[in-house]
Amino acid sequence: MSAADSDPQLARYAFRRKLDEIAAVRGRATELISLYVPPGKQISDVMSYLRNEYAQSSNIKSRTTRKNVMWAIESLMGRVRAFKTPPSQGVAFFVGSKAVGADKSEPVTFIVEPPEPLNTYLYRCDSTFFTEPLLSMIHEPDLWGLIVMDRAEVTIGLLRGKRVEPLRNRQSLVPSKHGRGGQSAHRFERLIEHAAHEFFVKCGEMANELFLPKKDQLKGILIGGPGATKEYFFKEGYLQYELQQKVVQPLFDVGYTDEYGLKELVEKATQTLHGLEVTEEKRIMQRLLLEIRRAEAGLAAYGETDVGAALDAGAVETLLLSEGLRRRRVKLHCSSCNRDFQRVLRDEEVEKVAGSPCPSCGVNALSVTDSEDYVEGLFRRATESGATVRMISTESEEGQVLEKAFGGVAALLRYPLAQHVTRLRPAHK
Ligand SMILES: [Zn+2]
Repeated sequence: MSAADSDPQLARYAFRRKLDEIAAVRGRATELISLYVPPGKQISDVMSYLRNEYAQSSNIKSRTTRKNVMWAIESLMGRVRAFKTPPSQGVAFFVGSKAVGADKSEPVTFIVEPPEPLNTYLYRCDSTFFTEPLLSMIHEPDLWGLIVMDRAEVTIGLLRGKRVEPLRNRQSLVPSKHGRGGQSAHRFERLIEHAAHEFFVKCGEMANELFLPKKDQLKGILIGGPGATKEYFFKEGYLQYELQQKVVQPLFDVGYTDEYGLKELVEKATQTLHGLEVTEEKRIMQRLLLEIRRAEAGLAAYGETDVGAALDAGAVETLLLSEGLRRRRVKLHCSSCNRDFQRVLRDEEVEKVAGSPCPSCGVNALSVTDSEDYVEGLFRRATESGATVRMISTESEEGQVLEKAFGGVAALLRYPLAQHVTRLRPAHK
């Protein structure tokens, strides 16, 4: 089990990194196969589809392409057959021959179980892998609860990424204040208030029922509506207390209380939602910059060397990692002088390092003995030392600073590191 299974931030990073890797593959011809199997699809149906494609592919003119496509489908059938039924969220397969220059290609296979359910069955053979359905999941991870209401109607829904999902709508039986008949004004008033209270209880129950099972994923709850009813509903605590704490304030003025009102609510709140997320990132990055600017004894470190030393010393309070990092830490061995080295390399450099000149003896005798994703490695070291880790997106200005100016790695420290500690970095593993 990798660390990616235990931390949602790391899982998100690992998923995105995998997709980048898949999307970067190029075929020499139309010979890369993408297959999306949604939950509920019969594996036997997929198999017969693949058998048909296999038969068709024998007509491909180019001998090399035909050979590669037939290999890919055959390999794919073996992979698909291993599943009795699709996993609960579905599964995507990417199989084909990757061009590796000079008329050469090598087989690649990726199997991805998505973080959200797949909703389409798709088979595609192209010169690149088709990753769009999975990519769209990266950008829509946030979940918000939505409530629009007044005394006459309530609509409850979810905002999933950018998608509004209406879940429940109910009209109230609260009589209009203007529609009174022959009853006394006082008695009528009491009836109305009682009916309104009953309606708010019902609204609260529906929201609890819909939101409580998702409370850990909910980033917040947005409440909107015309007039003061929404404030009354919120202040009187008709929502379960854990949900109550997730309500974003102030509440939002919107004109409608139906499905359209949900959309209006999201539009009004968009700036706030954006603000909420960026604020947290901004706050932590501003603290980092402040510490870095201090002339002496700042509680910050940045760059691979200094952050590594701080981690070794157990001095890191919060480790900041850019989501844009695409590197591996590799261990190298020289078979000529028998020395071992360690390097942090970009993905494309890792592919070329084997057989390159040894930094010590100069002979082209380097080989990779071990390699690890750079972010996952740092994540693990930080967690082991009791530090918190924050993955910083590359979308904000602050995120750009981390990626470009600090090499994607920085840390807020528990105590200042003495200058010599960072200079004389121990030659750790
Ligand atoms: Zn050597």
